[in-house]
This record gives sequence, structure tokens and C-alpha cells, in this order.
Amino acid sequence: MKMFLAGQWVDKPQRIEVRHPWDDSVVDTVPQADASDVDRALAAAVEGAAQMRRTTGYQRYGWLMKAAELMEQRLEDLARTITLEEGKVLAESRFEVSRAAETIRLSAEEAKRLGAEVLPLDGAPGAEGKLGFTLRVPCGVVVAITPFNFPLNLVCHKLGPALAAGNAVVLKPASDTPLSALKMVEILLEAGVPPLAVACVTGSGGEVGRALCTDRRVRKISFTGSREVGEKICQMAGLKRVTMELGSNSPLVVMPDADLDKVVQATVTTGYANAGQVCISTQRVLAVGGVYEELLPRLQQEVEKITVGNPLEEGVRMGPMIRRQDAQRVCQWIQQAVEQGARVLTGGECQGAAVTPAVVADVSPQMRISCDELFGPAVGVSRVESIEEAIALANDSRYGLSAGIFTQNLDWALRFAREVDSGNIQINWGPQWRADLMPYGGLKESGMGKEGPRYAIDEMTELKTVVIHQLG
Ligand code: NAP
Repeated sequence: MKMFLAGQWVDKPQRIEVRHPWDDSVVDTVPQADASDVDRALAAAVEGAAQMRRTTGYQRYGWLMKAAELMEQRLEDLARTITLEEGKVLAESRFEVSRAAETIRLSAEEAKRLGAEVLPLDGAPGAEGKLGFTLRVPCGVVVAITPFNFPLNLVCHKLGPALAAGNAVVLKPASDTPLSALKMVEILLEAGVPPLAVACVTGSGGEVGRALCTDRRVRKISFTGSREVGEKICQMAGLKRVTMELGSNSPLVVMPDADLDKVVQATVTTGYANAGQVCISTQRVLAVGGVYEELLPRLQQEVEKITVGNPLEEGVRMGPMIRRQDAQRVCQWIQQAVEQGARVLTGGECQGAAVTPAVVADVSPQMRISCDELFGPAVGVSRVESIEEAIALANDSRYGLSAGIFTQNLDWALRFAREVDSGNIQINWGPQWRADLMPYGGLKESGMGKEGPRYAIDEMTELKTVVIHQLG
């Protein structure tokens, strides 16, 4: 495919190969942009932002609603594209497309609600006769940088709100998965979005990402990806607004009164979806007291039922990881844990870019599989003795994106919700649950700012204060 910038589909002699993680075959190629392409894209985006500022909420609502309709019509093609470039199984890709269409529809609705407030200025001394109000205005040029693991829905979580709010947006998708993003740009253009208001520049994060993040024409950067890259972007950004949606090593606490059937079901669903490559995957299960011994064989039995294979084949439950070296890293971390005293109950073997789903018992907090972000299909289980110890361990992380607890005890649940430093708390489910309309984002080094169209629009707009001084 070509990339889209300055209102045109653009090609380059240097191209990036997009490969299918399952068999390493080349799916397509995209242009390898450089800093000169970024310069062109941003110059056009400045013009696009001026055009978008003059559009009405109702126009932007119409474009985005039309885009959502086109996405649903092209669900199968988009789902296949996601599976080909990302490697998740088709059922998960179809679900991602339907969620992405919903994200765009939610953004469309917000385009009609960009309200602000009247200010009670007479509450200030000497302000009689003054009337104040705020105006919510778009940021102007928004840069969106996205990761590989949800190549359509996370793109929509940035493009939808940015356009709904009346910005121009320049997207840099992950180099492993640019095709879904480019197809989304095609859809937006077909739906009527002005061509200068959206661009998709394909190329390496190091070069293109840096050129985008350091440019003074950009007012807002919305980034989803790893903590390491997020930190680099914050250092480069200077005086820009930033939203950072970063990683995690999410815990799930299992209290002695938990319904173990539900715990097993939730752990399997939330620990191994997309081969564990979800920012809020269950990575650490902390089981309190005797429930630990009871849980292990039941979890092992269910995890052994997860079939691994070609993600394009219907019925396969788990596909490969994104790259062979990521699979090797996950297997190495499991091996390291074993050398430090952990036990592998099942899985943990590399087969090309795939890893067999693993359950690792007797995990201790200093093991890498517990304290770093694993981002792979393995869950580490540890025994703890009390709710106090479980909360302390849940918090013993630089991350704070999502955390779950299984219990019937309201006091334990509330205590967990209050004391665990995490942007999302799930009671009686694993950490991996999200409705696209809810405020979503991390605490601590999992990031700052929120997504979910209504909340992302707050981050992609600015407030002006207007005061009218009554003269008579
Ligand atoms: P990544 O390596 O951080 O890459 C993310 C994006 O940043 C890619 O587009 C990448 O481009 C670009 N990039 C790389 N270096 C850059 C630089 N120096 N300047 C600007 N941009 C740069 O992350 P990933 O491996 O794709 O995704 C996995 C990570 O994302 C995990 O940590 C996961 O937890 C996190 N994530 C978080 C959320 C959330 O909502 N909190 C959701 C999904 C994923 P290239 O591809 O060209 O390198």
C-alpha cells in the first residue's frame, strides 16, 4: 500500500515489508518515510487544522458515522488484514473491527457535545456585571503513534476523538502493522473527512516518530506503546501536551472465598487472548492461602485446552506472537524463573513465533516474569497469605494500568479498589476488560491521560476563557 500525506497517496523507493507472524510470508509492503515526508505531512496538517476548525460538529458527526458504517460493511476484509499483519486469530480480529467501529461511532456522538461552561464570575470580589464562559477549541495538529497489538481499534481511539474534536491528525502506525491503519484512512476519506485533516506516515519510530514528536507545529501527542518509548517521547516533546498509554504487569488477586470456576475462566480469557499481547493481560495471579493449591491444577487443565496454530484457520484459539524474537524472549524469561525456583506446569515452548500457553507456579516477585512486562502467553502464580500482602504485591510494580480481585467480600473488594494504585480495577474478573466508552488509562509509569472518546476529546481540546465586561 502507499502512505497518505498532504492530501495524496505517496510512494517511496524504500519500502518496509509487512510479514505474517505465523509463517513469515510477506503480506504487503509500505513506504519507508523519512524526515522530509514528515515535514510535508505537518505543513499540510497545519492547513488541515485550519480547515477543520471551521467545520461544524454536525459535519464531523456525519463523517464519522459514515466511516463506522463502512467499517462494518468491510468487517471481513479488515479482520483478515489484522490477522495477516498482527497474527491474532480471526475471531479476535472480527471482534476488534466491531469494537473499532463502535469507537468511531462513540467519537461521532461526542462531536455534538463539545460544550463548555458559564463561569459564576460574580463570586469574585469586584466582579459585578461581568459574565464569563469557556470555549473548548481543538488543539490544532495532533500526532498519534500506535502499537502493533490492536492495529485498528487503538488507531480509532486516536483518529476518532482527534477528528471529532476538529483537529488535523498525523498518524504513525507500528511498522509491523501499518495496513489496518492505511485501510482506516481510506475509509475516513471515503466518508468525507477533508484530505488535509488526516495523514498516515509509515516508517521507523526512530526516524519518523522523532521528527513528529520534536516538531513545534504539533500541539498534542497521543502515544500508545511501551514505557521505554513513551519516556523517550516525553523527553523529546518539549512544550506539547502528551497522552501516554503504556505497559503493565497486571495482577489478579484470588481471595479464599472466590468462585474458582469463574477464576479459571477469567484467567484463561484475560491471560492468553492475543497470545498475551494485551497491555492489561493478566500476568501475575496472587492466590491467598490454600486456594493456591486448589487453583493450580484447575488452571493447568483449562490452559492445556487452548489450541495454538495458524490464526487464519477457524477454531484455532491462539496464534503466534508478533515476532520470533519476542517468542524467544518469553521462553527465556520462563526458563530464568525456573532457574530461580519456579515450576512450569504447562507450556512455555517456542514453535517459531508461537509460544505454547504457559502456567508457571511458585513465582516470586523479583523474577523477571513477575516484575517486568512479559507481554506473552504465560501467567505466573504466587501464594500469598493475606489481603494485606496481596495489595502490597499488587502495588509492588512501577506499573499501574489494571488490576483484578476475585472475592465475595465487599470489604475486601472495596479495600482493593481504594488501595491498589491502578487506573482500572476489576472486581470479580481479570484485569483485561474494557468497554471503549469508559475512561481508560494508567497510573504510575503506565502513563498519563485517559482514552475513551469522551475523555480523549478533553485531552485533544483546550479551554479558552472569555469575559464580557458590561459597560452600562
Ligand atoms: P513500542 O515498541 O513502544 O512501539 C509503539 C510505537 O512507537 C510504534 O509505532 C513505534 O514505531 C513507535 N516508536 C518506536 N520508537 C519511537 C521513537 N523513538 N519515537 C517515536 N515513536 C517511536 O510498542 P509495541 O511493541 O508496538 O507495543 C507494545 C507495548 O504497547 C506494550 O508495552 C503494551 O503494554 C503497550 N500498549 C499499551 C496500551 C495501553 O492502552 N496502555 C495498549 C496497547 C499496547 P515502530 O513500530 O516503527 O518501531
